[in-house]
Amino acid sequence: SYRKGGYHAVRVGDSFAAGRYIAQQKLGWGQFSTVWLAYDTQSSKYVALKIQKSAPQFAQAALHEIEILCAIADGDPSNEKSVVRLVDHFKHVGPNGQHLCMVLEFLGDSLLRLIKYNRYKGLQLDKVREICKCILTALDYLHEKLGIIHTDLKPENILLCNTINPSKDPIRSGMTPILERPEGNPNGGVSMSSIEKKLKQRARRAIARISERRASMGGVGVVPKPARCLDGIDLRCKVVDFGNACWADRPIAEEIQTRQYRAPEVILQSGYSFAADMWSFACTAFELATGEMMFAPKNGQGFSEDEDHLALMMELLGKMPRKIWDLKRIRRLKYGTLDRLLVDKYKFSDADARDFSGFLRPVFDFEPEKRPTAKQCLQHPWLNTVNQAHGELKSESSDEKVNVGMSNLQIKLRK
Ligand code: ATP
Ligand code: MG
Ligand code: MG
Repeated sequence: SYRKGGYHAVRVGDSFAAGRYIAQQKLGWGQFSTVWLAYDTQSSKYVALKIQKSAPQFAQAALHEIEILCAIADGDPSNEKSVVRLVDHFKHVGPNGQHLCMVLEFLGDSLLRLIKYNRYKGLQLDKVREICKCILTALDYLHEKLGIIHTDLKPENILLCNTINPSKDPIRSGMTPILERPEGNPNGGVSMSSIEKKLKQRARRAIARISERRASMGGVGVVPKPARCLDGIDLRCKVVDFGNACWADRPIAEEIQTRQYRAPEVILQSGYSFAADMWSFACTAFELATGEMMFAPKNGQGFSEDEDHLALMMELLGKMPRKIWDLKRIRRLKYGTLDRLLVDKYKFSDADARDFSGFLRPVFDFEPEKRPTAKQCLQHPWLNTVNQAHGELKSESSDEKVNVGMSNLQIKLRK
């Protein structure tokens, strides 16, 4: 992809926007861009520099993303709505063409990394709660105030405000910014043998990750490692990647969202709006709490991926109203419920399962009009109770139920 119309090759120390930004290290990449940690010599701060591929369709997409990000920044001058902030944007001409560049506030690891870091065990519910509040704050702002649908909400597109590992954070680790390209090497200080070394390292890490994942799933002959302690990690986060976002009155594509987070109305092509983001939000919250995707459809003999997806939804959430869809060639369904699944498969206590599914279940309504909005979710008692995952509320005595009920009641009364 590093050819005409594609990515711009960046070397450590490269400068952008007439010397204002200096590339430090690569942070990530996507289908449309590479993203670099850069040092902003004007503000003396680190930023994320998103450098789009140069072909016209990518430039068009970047312009659209910039338009949305500008609206987001304008509507939230104090930057408190848990959405990534656009700092600047400009064009950069390189050997592969003209690249639109977005300068974004520098954020940390994605929730997907957090889930992996936690060995796919599911986070403690008090952590899930904090993250849900951030995401819902962002969605309420996008939906109610701006009329924007994100259309690709998933753990990968939600970034923590900090890195999980403080030594990887350029600010907390006190890294000295690189101000010019390291001398003497055309690769900007990176020799081929070090690239090879890196590739080998990466392969080793990939193998380690696979066996770790197996172990976490209780593979044969391996002792599963416990979840990692996340105490002390600030779990504030922000929604990123507005490349596919749209104004609700101007939907862009018929097929939106990443497969596993796709809402039923999108699969059925019956029109979508803000509620499609709410479905993806609920899938994300489930994944944070369990470490596994809520729905992972596959195609098989005699049924498509869409049909499997709808079948999985119905097995967990009950039959879809006839008016929505009439199932024709589907396998025999095994019905269950969300709170049974949380107890049986993910070993939630009865109380935790009941409370968490009490929060999530309404969002998984097949009828988008009936799903609660982000604002309504923010009012839900589950988000506003103190942690029930540890301590005195953990027991399954009847006292506890009274306790939980009381605390919900108190919160309602306080409002
Ligand atoms: P996609 O194929 O997902 O649409 P994209 O080309 O639009 O990708 P992004 O998803 O915006 O690119 O960014 C790619 C990656 O770069 C992210 O997954 C993340 O790892 C990293 N990244 C993006 N924005 C930031 C940021 N503000 N701070 C730190 N890292 C970031
Ligand atoms: Mg992305
Ligand atoms: Mg994108």
